[in-house]
Amino acid sequence: MVKSNYIIELTNVSKSFGDKVVLDDVSLSVKQGEFLTILGPSGCGKTTLLRLLAGFNTASEGEIRIGGEVVTDTPPHKRPVNTVFQRYALFPNYNVFDNIAFGLKLKGVERKQIETRVKRALKMVGMTDYEHRDVDSLSGGQQQRVAIARAIVNRPQVLLLDEPLAALDLKMRKDMQMELKEMHRSLGITFVYVTHDQEEALTLSDTIVVMSEGRIQQIGTPMDIYNEPCNSFVADFIGESNILNAVMVRDRLVRFMGKEFECVDTGFGEDVPVDVVIRPEDVYIIAQRSSAMFTGTVRSCTFKGVHYEMFVDTPDGYEIMIQDYNRFEVGTEVGMIVKPSDIHVMRKERVCNTLEGVMKDATHVEMLGGVFECTPAEGVEAGEKVRVEVDFGDVELTDDSSDGTVGGTIRFILYKGDRFHLTVRTEEGINIYADTHDVWEDLDEVGIKIRPQSLRISRMQ
Ligand code: ATP
Repeated sequence: MVKSNYIIELTNVSKSFGDKVVLDDVSLSVKQGEFLTILGPSGCGKTTLLRLLAGFNTASEGEIRIGGEVVTDTPPHKRPVNTVFQRYALFPNYNVFDNIAFGLKLKGVERKQIETRVKRALKMVGMTDYEHRDVDSLSGGQQQRVAIARAIVNRPQVLLLDEPLAALDLKMRKDMQMELKEMHRSLGITFVYVTHDQEEALTLSDTIVVMSEGRIQQIGTPMDIYNEPCNSFVADFIGESNILNAVMVRDRLVRFMGKEFECVDTGFGEDVPVDVVIRPEDVYIIAQRSSAMFTGTVRSCTFKGVHYEMFVDTPDGYEIMIQDYNRFEVGTEVGMIVKPSDIHVMRKERVCNTLEGVMKDATHVEMLGGVFECTPAEGVEAGEKVRVEVDFGDVELTDDSSDGTVGGTIRFILYKGDRFHLTVRTEEGINIYADTHDVWEDLDEVGIKIRPQSLRISRMQ
């Protein structure tokens, strides 16, 4: 039998709680000895994925292998993994030694062995001579070290870490990050680490898995993910970015902000709508406007410790974020330059809303959990299933959710330089996307309205 190079293999794994799909068709392979981080916003399914690996939850569909063995239904204590939780989960009545020795005692390991292994684990986490201390008398950082020692004392093949540093203050978190990296190196085992902190993920990982709404968006090295985000969600989530609507004119030529720019990307086709991402540190700001690619006026300038962060308004109504060591006063007219290799072109996930509906009568369609008025649709009959297209700019949002044909909640906001691109989740759990100049906040409850003439209805293929 050919042994896989991967210590962990998830194949088409899904997980639902009731009718709520929390993980949707996740496939992932983790190499032996890798430091892999699962990164994503709150609620995207990171912890659920880790719990499936640990065996605390069972997958609804798909297969999980660890060390070549199928463990999809194997209970936690029979898997070669240990978990470190965000809130330590130490036994408060036990001292440090007994906390770490607990699992070994349960397994009936001989006393002398236990002592040697606990001491070694304590040394690994920099806590030699702490074995008799009460865990309550330790700082947060020390408690987390004990929790890690308790996990590694079992010599797992895989250490699962669920936001282990989230409860620590910034300074302690930075120190512990370095120690974790060192521990990973000296232990030589696989770490699967969950965090919502992109900087932490970039610092620690060999590989980052970016997740959103139960799906993997991108898998890659920190450099890949930062420099070549595969879509606007990843670009927005990892670091600061300018994300703009654009059109790929042809290979190596892209149009945005009303101008054409040379770029290095090919293979998108001609006249294809795309997104471009430009990192703020890749926009060069200069005083001579005549030699610039585009111009603007500095609206704000804030010192950020190492660089200045400036927002520049262009005459066409775009806002560009720039990070530069030089400072330009608010109100200064400036020029800007971007190198072709710093313009990253990404495929758009969608160019309009494509929804499914059912015709109620000639001028009404039922979709998104409500009945919307439409202009008379040709060739479709009442009761027929139809495809409905709506442009992002034609979805109107109202403050009061009862004012809309249906209600929804804002789940994700992406700023596109001159407008916001919002993901709104309806009460039925369907996403609709809206472009707007209005300022909304995450989790705002809104009403959704669409003018009858903005619905494009066609027969289902
Ligand atoms: P966070 O960073 O906030 O912990 P996360 O990305 O780890 O978020 P999960 O904890 O995996 O997200 O949760 C994903 C979704 O699944 C959430 O909407 C959560 O409410 C839901 N969920 C998790 N566990 C259960 C459960 N036992 N029953 C019902 N829903 C659950």
